[in-house]
Parts: sequence; C-alpha cells; structure tokens
Amino acid sequence: MPFAITPTCCNDASCVSVCPVNCIHPTPDEPEFGTTEMLYVDPAACIDCGACADACPVDAVFPIESLRGPDAEFAVANRLWYEEHPTDHAWSEPEFPRSLPGDPAREPLRVAVVGAGPAAGYTVRHLLHATDARITLIDRLPVPGGLLRSGVAPDHPATKQIGEGFSEIYRHPRVRLALNVEVGRDVSVAELAETHSAVVYAFGASADRQLRVPGEQLANSLAATDVVGWYNAHPDRTDLTIDLQTERAVVVGTGNVALDIARVLLADPDELARTDVSDVALAALRTSQVREVVLLGRRDVSTAAFTAGEFAALRAVPGLEIVLDRTGLVDGPPATGPLRDVPVVDIAYDSPPPAGRRLVLRFGSPVDALDGGSDRSDSTAVSVVRTTGNAATTIPTGLVIRSIGYTGRALPGLPFDESAGVVPNELGRVRDPATGATLPGAYVAGWIKRGPSGGIGTNRADAAETVHALLDDAAAGRLPTGRDSAAFHRLLRSRTDVVDQARARAIDAAERRAGEAAGRPRVKFVRVEQMLAVDRPKAVARAAAGAVTDRLTGLLSRPSA
Ligand code: NAP
Repeated sequence: MPFAITPTCCNDASCVSVCPVNCIHPTPDEPEFGTTEMLYVDPAACIDCGACADACPVDAVFPIESLRGPDAEFAVANRLWYEEHPTDHAWSEPEFPRSLPGDPAREPLRVAVVGAGPAAGYTVRHLLHATDARITLIDRLPVPGGLLRSGVAPDHPATKQIGEGFSEIYRHPRVRLALNVEVGRDVSVAELAETHSAVVYAFGASADRQLRVPGEQLANSLAATDVVGWYNAHPDRTDLTIDLQTERAVVVGTGNVALDIARVLLADPDELARTDVSDVALAALRTSQVREVVLLGRRDVSTAAFTAGEFAALRAVPGLEIVLDRTGLVDGPPATGPLRDVPVVDIAYDSPPPAGRRLVLRFGSPVDALDGGSDRSDSTAVSVVRTTGNAATTIPTGLVIRSIGYTGRALPGLPFDESAGVVPNELGRVRDPATGATLPGAYVAGWIKRGPSGGIGTNRADAAETVHALLDDAAAGRLPTGRDSAAFHRLLRSRTDVVDQARARAIDAAERRAGEAAGRPRVKFVRVEQMLAVDRPKAVARAAAGAVTDRLTGLLSRPSA
C-alpha cells in the first residue's frame, strides 16, 4: 500500500533525500519547490518501503490505508498532483554532500550563529555535518527555538516536533549555547566578527508590517506579531492586555498566520488547555466573548494566501461554522480549491453575530480606515472599502488584528535593506550595498535573508545554500582561524547572565515537569526572570569553575604538534 503526505508537511524534504525510487516531488532542485504548499508521493511509483515516514520530522507521511477523516482527502491530493505534474521520477544530477577538506595543521573554524530558531537549527546541523567548526549558538531569550517556540500555534504540536530534532544539536560537543545574549546590546556585530571565523545571522523577521490607514494605532488594533507572541508566551508580550470582551474580531490578511489567530480565538479553551498555550492567554480566552472572526482579504478570493492544509485544520475545529461573505466575490463563488464548497451568505454587519462560533471570509475588501467613533463605547469600528466600487461597508468590532506579513529589523553594524526588510546578500553572503562587495565572514539564513515566506522546513534548503557559501569561503582560505573562543565567552559572561546548555536543559525540564502535572506538553515560563531563576545555584557554582573550563577548552582546541 503506497504512502501519502498529509498537510502537516513542513517541506524540509528530509523524505526526498531518503526515497530510494525518487517518487516524492517537487524536490528542492525542481522549480515547483519554491511555491509548493507541500510535497507529494506518487502512489503509482511508491514501493511502500516507509523510509519517508521514518525520516519525516513532523509525522506527516502515512500509508494511504491508514488515512481517516479529512486526511483521506490528501491521499487523492497526492495522486492528483502527479496527474497535473507528470514525471518519470528520473534522478537529477547527483549532489554529493559537501564538506571542508580536513587539515590537521589548521585550527578549527569558530562560527557564531545568531538566533536559535529553525533557520539557525538547520544552519548548525549543516555546519556540524560539513565542517569541524566549533559553533556558538546565540539567542536573546534564555530558551532556544525561535519561531518553533514563539510562532507555531500551540495546537500544531506536530510542527513543533522539528524542535525535538534540534534539541540534539544543542547537546552536540561542538556546540555551545550562549542564550540570554542580545547582539547589539550585550555584544556588537564588530566584536562577533573579531572573535569568530564566520558569523551566520539567522534572527528572523520579528517586526510587523503596517496597514498605514487612519486609526491603525487605536487601542484595540493589534499586530499579529503581538497576538502570536501573546498566546505563545513570548516574554515581550506577557504584559499585553488583549480585550476579548467583543463578540466580533476582525483579522486583516488571509495568510496562514491569520488562520492561526482565527483558530486560536475561536478554539474551545478546554482543548487549548491541553497545549503549551500561554497561561496568560488561556485565562483571557476562557472569558472571551469572541464568537465571530471576520478574515479580510484585500483582493479577490483566488488570492487567498493560506495553504490548503491549514484551511483543512480550521475546518476540523469542532462546532465551527465557516462561511464566505457574498460581498467581494466579484467573479462569484470559487469553483475549485479549498473554499469551493464553503457556503456563501449575505451578512448584515450591523447586527450582532449569530449564536455559535463562526469564521467569515470576506474578500475584495481593502481596509480604508479604523474608526474609533462607533456607537459602542468599548468597540472599534473598521471601515472597509470594496474594490468593486460599491459603497463602503463598516464592520463594528472591538478587536482588529492586522496579519499582513512580517518584516525584518535592522541590526546595528549590519547592512539592511529597509524596503525589503532583509539583510542584502548573495546566496547568503552579506553584501554591503554601498560598495556592492560581500562582507568577509558575514552570512545570513532564513527570513532575514529571503523575507518572511515559507514554512519551517523551507529553511533547510535555505540554510544549506548559506553553508555552501561559507564552505567555499573557508576552502578558499578567506575565513580566519585561530580565534580565541574562551576570551569571547568570558566577554559575554562579563556583560550578561549567559544561559548555557545545562541551564537551558534545566529550564526545559522545569517547563515539561509543570506540564506533566496538568496533562500538557509543557507550561511555558512567561517571564525572562522566571527562566533565569531555574537552576541558578548550580549555575553560580559553574561560573566559579568557569575559568578552569576556559583553560581546558583553550588547551583542547590547540592544534596537535
Ligand atoms: P503571508 O502568507 O505573506 O500573508 C499576508 C497576507 O496579508 C496576504 O493575504 C496579503 O494579501 C495580506 N496583506 C498584505 N498587505 C496588506 C495590506 N496592506 N492590506 C490588506 N492585506 C494585506 O504572511 P503570513 O500569514 O504572515 O505568513 C508568513 C509565512 O509563514 C508564510 O509563508 C506562511 O505560509 C508561513 N506560515 C506557515 C504556517 C504553516 O505552515 N502552518 C503557519 C504560519 C505561517 P495580498 O496577497 O493581497 O498581498
């Protein structure tokens, strides 16, 4: 019985690498890989070996016969993809694993990776496989994970499993964690460059894009970055108060983040209570009055930015009604795609939402303004203007969330392209726009390199490209070796309370223990101070022994005579 890939697919293509008959496409070197929502197994070519299922980091691959409910639809989707993309499964040019030639006379590379999210995780994994580099993984929070911890929705545990794979690299003897270290505050870009052979910046795109309409700064108008951070217990968002005492919320944008937010707002709190959702958010969601979320797309229904898989996850929410607002369906209801059988209704926004929980998808409706002057004192009114030229519609609401994409932030000392929100680069090598030259030893990976697109697994191929550039530079002798990492770590410790592997493990264990008691995967700390307080006595003892460790590290890293 052949296998099929289900929408949990993270696109990291681990399955492609292990398939003995090359029956999983698109592969990373095929053009469709850049735009595909997920990968597909050709049931006609699959030999039922199960290697793909074993390799999948998110448990998205199953024998067709075992698929039940909405997942059964994806057995058909796998087959249909091959009807639309016929392939003979011929192997493309072989790509051999790259590695840095060994040289006993050369001191190992010292590489700093800034950010501890998925792009950094894949970068570190590639570096460990391909080089003898000693790696320092730096993050400004005392916990690793980046978007895996603070971005992936709490009710998507399968996606979070990728993080379990990364926890192995944190324990690797050539990796040293330096968490609770903020580049730009505790250590500068120049200091990192002076103390390492190479630095890979993989700190993501954490700022929100603006609508630039009047009223955007109203109290109940929030950015998706805030809401996602809030329900995921990001310490920066713990003190955010989100007023959920409104029957209708409006989410602007139709991407996967917008769907995540809508799902969390409309979820049964008892279901969420089984996840690692923030306790602060859970308490607010338990008393929430929100029962309708209106998702606003500025363009036609055919441009909906969410993926079919994520929409299927929304449809699986028990008791949730999903409808399309007839207004804005310029060319009528969609005949194909995930929205094809969603009921189309007329909606009177001046009436309260009906009983029960409902998601309304409304397209062709760019936001014109957010107006605070509604007749309800606790609410904000959103004016939306239809693109069809009809009169404007006003949607009364007490909560507006703009989920219109993320953008990168500039890091002092590193070039930045303001309009694209990324660090300018060539295949991962940071480029100085003033001179057009690439900066020796400076690299980027992930969203700060390519912009905020693609799921977690997309970063695997992206990180490989950056590491290949780094390998070429190292092989050409362009990267200095002989850097003194002990001095660097001493410098960090003199400036901040550095969280190392042992403390990060202790924080992780404490969160998991708290979760066990409540039948949850973990209960996340919501404040940095709580994280830093875990295991502090041992850490203080270790700090005292730090000088000895540093001396030993120095001795061990000297080249043998
Ligand atoms: P996104 O997919 O780029 O969607 C952005 C949405 O905002 C689009 O609907 C876009 O509409 C709209 N938009 C942009 N500017 C607007 C404006 N001025 N007014 C109104 N609407 C505007 O971004 P995202 O949802 O933040 O997701 C980022 C990436 O993370 C995506 O690649 C996504 O797939 C990925 N992600 C994946 C998962 C998952 O796989 N489970 C979960 C979360 C995120 P236009 O098309 O008209 O520009």
